[in-house]
Amino acid sequence: KVLVGTKVGEDHVNYILAYNMLTGIRVAVSRTTAKLDRQLTDNDFIAKHKLAFDISGNELTPSAKYDFKFKDYAPWVFRHLRQLFRLDPADYLISLTSKYIVSELGSPGKSGSFFYFSRDYRFIIKTIHHSEHKFLLKILKEYYNHVKDNPNTLLSQFYGLHRVKLPYGRKIHFIIMNNLFPPHRDIHQTFDLKGSTIGRDYDERKLKNNKHATMKDLNWLRREKHISLGPRKRTQFMKQLEVDVKLLERLSIMDYSLLLGIHDLQKGNTEHIRDSTLTVFTPDQQMLERTPSRLERDRRVSLRRAFSTANPASLEQAIDVLRSEEYPFPKSFTFYADDGGFRATDEIDGPLTEIYYLGVIDCLTHYSFAKKVETFWKGLSHSREKLSAIPPIEYGERFMKFIFSIVKTPNQGGSSQARTAIP
Ligand code: ATP
Ligand code: CA
Ligand code: CA
Repeated sequence: KVLVGTKVGEDHVNYILAYNMLTGIRVAVSRTTAKLDRQLTDNDFIAKHKLAFDISGNELTPSAKYDFKFKDYAPWVFRHLRQLFRLDPADYLISLTSKYIVSELGSPGKSGSFFYFSRDYRFIIKTIHHSEHKFLLKILKEYYNHVKDNPNTLLSQFYGLHRVKLPYGRKIHFIIMNNLFPPHRDIHQTFDLKGSTIGRDYDERKLKNNKHATMKDLNWLRREKHISLGPRKRTQFMKQLEVDVKLLERLSIMDYSLLLGIHDLQKGNTEHIRDSTLTVFTPDQQMLERTPSRLERDRRVSLRRAFSTANPASLEQAIDVLRSEEYPFPKSFTFYADDGGFRATDEIDGPLTEIYYLGVIDCLTHYSFAKKVETFWKGLSHSREKLSAIPPIEYGERFMKFIFSIVKTPNQGGSSQARTAIP
């Protein structure tokens, strides 16, 4: 959304990094996409491709504005994942690598990760710690199989794993994933829920100045909110969540959360950008005023350009392959089918006025030594079940228990929410 993030123009501190990431993705992804599809082999899960960019360019890599090295991890696996997630290959490249620059969302978490949106806000680039990077590679096969077996998974959809190495040696790892929130709808409230209460409070006083802030468990409980889903959707949601969390438990993952954005149809899209213009920067630092529909047109027009700069030799072949690419799965995902989200329903499965945009995010933290240390220290001062850093099975169970307790329709009686636990 245009409301969040700063445009990364050429004067931005992270312009070079953003430019290198996008250039690397464009060349690497179009190279894989241009090839005829084939089945995955075991080697695909450990494959790495190196690309070296410089100002002059060569027959393997087109010239770039800066010198940097780029690594593409398991390109074929991610190509297949994008297919499973029904991404159009051309759309993917154009969103991420068109002439417009992404916008940056500072570092919203305490982990130090940076987030970048693709220009159309469909995709998020998140810089990740080296340990998360290694861990994703380690579990990639299990993740892939899970997505194959569970097309409606609520887990983050990973589309690519890459690394940029800057000339003075700094290495930046990053993933590309789905933005859970739609570019075309206001999100009136956002929550990041873990089922823990320690430190899970967004300062209510700060909400006045920042009503788009992501609130946490205690803010949710204080508002006595619930995720209103009638019997049909409740079952769909809880079943999928359970299968997803089982995988996370099995892989010893913790610290993940349910990210939930709520769009209220009664409030509508007042703040929305649909009819207003937005300011975008081109790489040559020109400032342009564009309406979203004009951007969409530009996007299509730049398709050929994106491919031609990426890999001139096989341009025609690439486009032919893209056109013939088949998508073997049904058109829409259960939880993203109602205008990109999951609409609230009542006890007789009738529609209510909220649309939920939700998914399980931040699921690359392994219950490692560091976490054990954290448990030890915090364990000295707080009661164990309130902690965030608890072992994966306990974490998963607490998470499920919490979500289960808040998924209910307004006309369902009783309160399973622990009111007394709220400070
Ligand atoms: P920490 O480890 O401190 O929790 P982090 O840097 O790992 O932080 P995340 O927890 O992944 O960051 O995300 C931080 C915030 O960024 C989320 O609360 C949410 O507001 C936003 N965010 C993350 N992933 C997505 C996504 N897929 N779609 C939309 N927003 C997202
Ligand atoms: Ca997090
Ligand atoms: Ca994290």
